[in-house]
Amino acid sequence: MKNGFTTTILHSDLEAPIEHNSVHKPMHAAVAFGYPDSRDLVKVFKGDAAGYAYGRQGNPTTAALESKVSKMEDGIATACFATGMAAIASTFVALLRAGDHVVSSSFLFGNTNSLFGTFNTQGYEISFVDATDVSNVAQAIRPHTRMVFVETIANPRTQVADLTRIGELCAKYNLIYVVDNTMTSPYLYRPKRDKAGLVINSLTKYIGGHGNALGGSVTDTGLFDWTRYANIYDNYKNAKPAMWGIQQIRKKGLRDVGATLAAEPAHRIATGAETLALRMERSSGNALALARFLAGHPKITKVYYPGLEDHPQHRLAGELFKNYGALMSIDLTGNIDCCDFLNRLELVISSSHLGDNRTLAIPIAQTIYWEMGAARRAEMGISESLIRLSIGIEDADDLIGDFRQALDKS
Ligand SMILES: *Cc1c(COP(=O)(O)O)cnc(C)c1O
Repeated sequence: MKNGFTTTILHSDLEAPIEHNSVHKPMHAAVAFGYPDSRDLVKVFKGDAAGYAYGRQGNPTTAALESKVSKMEDGIATACFATGMAAIASTFVALLRAGDHVVSSSFLFGNTNSLFGTFNTQGYEISFVDATDVSNVAQAIRPHTRMVFVETIANPRTQVADLTRIGELCAKYNLIYVVDNTMTSPYLYRPKRDKAGLVINSLTKYIGGHGNALGGSVTDTGLFDWTRYANIYDNYKNAKPAMWGIQQIRKKGLRDVGATLAAEPAHRIATGAETLALRMERSSGNALALARFLAGHPKITKVYYPGLEDHPQHRLAGELFKNYGALMSIDLTGNIDCCDFLNRLELVISSSHLGDNRTLAIPIAQTIYWEMGAARRAEMGISESLIRLSIGIEDADDLIGDFRQALDKS
């Protein structure tokens, strides 16, 4: 990337000429692509020529977004999916075989945790460890371990994984290092810096940013040596070795599972991505100001936010990320009911989702983490009164004012 982050995103569509001199990539809704010479269609099918065959495997609008995400993550190729969960599930299905072992952070997005539990009943073996310390990851490695999976800033308790050292460990043992970068986004952190081989993003969150489109992506950073990976099928060894992994993810994941990102959400996400840096700066600034206000308030017992000095990984987060992000969680003093408190907020919306322009709040144990049960919640450090806040781009004074009045009434 020779230009800056935002310049590059804004102008990346124009790397190739666009129909009618349109300044961004138009929406291509076609499912099928016709070829005057049927031999060209054959070449596209075999992967011997670039092109599109059938919409489940991609279309020009989604491809333009894939190219944008690759630039954001400084990767060599990206495959987009219908959702972030589809990206994670399809990557596992594409790259793992029965009996393969994965070491995962135990601090995970709720549905990822649920998915890995399902995989554990279906032939993959996934162990969960406290990934804030690399030694826990190292101890969990077995002879048939293929992959290590971590999130950057974990949702909802904001633990920061030991990203640099885990990257070194994976390089040493030749394991695929998969980093879910959703919470930081490629603007705050590029996992390639710490030797990640694959980077996952839920495009639904900060990259799309407006809460109006679902999407997910997997980016190959080019760092993992696929010629040393046992699970690449012979059929996919026709491409350059650097492309073996992403080609298998496209075929065994995207094509066979079929959780394809359609052109319309791809277009919305690409438009949203243009302002990723502006939004992240603003929402992270708001988050820090609000976290400081809340930390000093007598009716709040705890604020979990990496930007506060008492956060266990405050220094590490400062070294790794451009700033501390826009997600935090709070615990109210014992006598305040968290739903009553949320009902007193006038501006902040009680809602699932995060990474929206609007500030959203949700009681965690009763909703997203309800299904996993109290024991697993305790393991993940989730108290029954925890409230997760996804900070938006409102004016900081308005946000602080809203929390102040709701706390005064509690
Ligand atoms: C939301 C989220 C996902 C799943 O993304 P969807 O687009 O909602 O499927 C995965 N990982 C993290 C860290 C998330 O926050």
